[in-house]
Amino acid sequence: MRYAETGFNLEIDLSRGNIERVVTDPGLTVLHLGGLGTNARLLWDKAPADVTPFSPDNLLIFGTGLLCGTPAVGANRTIVTTYSPQTLLMAYSMMGGFFAPELKLAGYDKVVLRGKSPSLVYLWIHNDKVEIRDASHLRGKGAGETADIIREELNEPYAQVAAIGLAGENRVFMASIEQGRASASRLGIGAVMGDKGVKAIAVRGTKDVNVARPAEFIKYCNAVLEYIKIREANPIPGVMPILAGLGSPQEMKLFDEKWHTTSFMWGNSRTRRKDFWTEEIEEKWREVQENVRTRLLSCYNCPMKCGASISVPGISNYMMKCYSKLTYTMAAYSDLDFGFKIAQRATEYGVDGFSTPQVMAFALELYEAGILTDSDMPGMPSDTEGKFFWLLDRIVRREGIGDVLADGTYWAAQKIGKGAEEFAHNNIKKHEQLPLKLGMLNPIYFLMYSTGEKINITQIEGQFPQEPFPTREEREEFVKDWSQVPDEKFKQYFLDWEPRGEHSNPYYPTVQMSCEIVDWMERMHFIDDSLGVCAGLSSFPLKPPYHMHNYPAFISSGAGIDMDEAGLAQAAKRNRTLVRAINIRRGMRRADEKPPEDHWRKRFPELEAQLLDEYYKFKGWNSQGIPTAESLHELNLDYVKDDFIRRGILTDNQQTTPENTSTEK
Ligand code: SF4
Repeated sequence: MRYAETGFNLEIDLSRGNIERVVTDPGLTVLHLGGLGTNARLLWDKAPADVTPFSPDNLLIFGTGLLCGTPAVGANRTIVTTYSPQTLLMAYSMMGGFFAPELKLAGYDKVVLRGKSPSLVYLWIHNDKVEIRDASHLRGKGAGETADIIREELNEPYAQVAAIGLAGENRVFMASIEQGRASASRLGIGAVMGDKGVKAIAVRGTKDVNVARPAEFIKYCNAVLEYIKIREANPIPGVMPILAGLGSPQEMKLFDEKWHTTSFMWGNSRTRRKDFWTEEIEEKWREVQENVRTRLLSCYNCPMKCGASISVPGISNYMMKCYSKLTYTMAAYSDLDFGFKIAQRATEYGVDGFSTPQVMAFALELYEAGILTDSDMPGMPSDTEGKFFWLLDRIVRREGIGDVLADGTYWAAQKIGKGAEEFAHNNIKKHEQLPLKLGMLNPIYFLMYSTGEKINITQIEGQFPQEPFPTREEREEFVKDWSQVPDEKFKQYFLDWEPRGEHSNPYYPTVQMSCEIVDWMERMHFIDDSLGVCAGLSSFPLKPPYHMHNYPAFISSGAGIDMDEAGLAQAAKRNRTLVRAINIRRGMRRADEKPPEDHWRKRFPELEAQLLDEYYKFKGWNSQGIPTAESLHELNLDYVKDDFIRRGILTDNQQTTPENTSTEK
């Protein structure tokens, strides 16, 4: 009997139209848990190392986390893995909502797509019945519209549908996969789905998921629910509203946007407007939001209600979540009502709400600088909001300049030339990062930004506060009930972290402390992404309900895998190392591990080099960021070691690479 997981993957070869139900190896679950971990293992084993993102041999994997489909609160993430057209590295975007639990209830842990369909299709998975169906009538339809049509034609109102819009069909590098109450947005995974000729995957499952020790498991679930209630009733004092509670994050509940609008950058990550937020704006924006927000929505089995149904007069309803509420507004230096309007069209097109506004603002900057001219923008309206709609329409259709911009700022700048590269100033590993520009280097976030490969907001979010609290008294108050720390030493690190003076950024937390803190935060992200638990209840907020001390019990009683904290840390390390190994095999090296040049006004090259040196050592990687033979052996990844030696990435005895290369080459 398999517990928590079903023990079956659905492998579909779209070129041949072949569908297989494949029994999976339970040993891999013990090693990698599930979700991101087993997705990474599949990608390593089954996709050629040098496959191009739009090759039929690239895989597109929809993997459920190990705990999805069980009663574990907030365990609803689908981890979508492929090779990204944007970074050319491994992508692992994820979506909440209802798709993963539904897939588990249909009897599958993953859907693995290979090949390319000769015509546009959608997949219909209904328990044991799996079909590849014609989707020619869905060509050009919006993502939400597609889901509605499919549910209607199948007469299955409860089917969960993950779909692409026009952007995915046209292989736009910032294309997302939309799923009603969630989307997997980063790294262009929607473009790979479009390239494979798959418009949507619809799932309906009515089976059961087994749990190893149900009574015990439910006890832990109830404890999490109880803690959420207590935590919500006691927001953390002294931090911005968005960090005071749980969730991911609760943009739709909040009206106070002082922190985002005054800390994040406007335009193409260009301008900070420290005095933007006034009482007048707050009142106006509150009214706008209250007028369009019809109700708050949660993902499967979660009480947090992070999303909302948005109804703007004259356009169809859509679901909004997270920070996309502000990204379009701020990129266009506009108003919240514009943000709500354009986000509807963007959601139907299926595009990433972080990258797309930056790409459009980038185009307008190039236009203002004379690098793009009227001949590149024929018929573009004169007002800013009109320009944004105009650009969005062209990008998703790959029309004219839209075809260039559809590859994101990094690749577009290469193509445009004439100094455009200077304007693509907010990328990490060729991908637009959060529109943030800060003053003083923070050593923790330097490491998370530089070495992370997920390229999303979690590279700056974790269970350790983002900045020191102003007074020691406040810090003492904070650590009193900080039970989530994996080790008591982290409390002391935080207590001694001062906003100014000897114990402040960039030299405090010290290099060693920074390595330990980042390792802890990264470990939590990798555990969440393998278990399928929403980061908003674990690795993202302060003092979350899930942490290193209670996760092992969920795995032991839920999946029936004997797990303790050391074992869980080792599994997370194995998964983290395997993801890195996949990218190392594709040429990623130390030279790629850097934040945008202007991310911090003050930079400290020597300290930054030391941080990378020590962090690499701490993780068991060599000076190029390559996992050493020894650490690969310790993590049961000898097959990776052998592959690295065969390819000359590691040498037999030295464990070093002969050259300092990077994906730039
Ligand atoms: S915390 Fe929010 S985003 Fe996360 S599962 Fe719950 S409702 Fe969804």
